[in-house]
Amino acid sequence: MQRKKEVQANGLEKKRRSILCPKCGHRLLDASVNTKAQLVTPTKNCNPDFVIKCRHCSSEIGVIKTE
Ligand SMILES: [Zn+2]
Repeated sequence: MQRKKEVQANGLEKKRRSILCPKCGHRLLDASVNTKAQLVTPTKNCNPDFVIKCRHCSSEIGVIKTE
């Protein structure tokens, strides 16, 4: 009975991947493996879909969904 729960949890883990801070390598967030995303440095000319502030090094990281 307990075994079935464990298998289910492992399956979910495989559907995610970690997006790491390009500056310090700290984990910023988990994304679905189906999500195609590009990390950029936010500037006036670049308007990313999301901006995440790294809690480790305080860098602002822009994320653009490419699909
Ligand atoms: Zn960082």
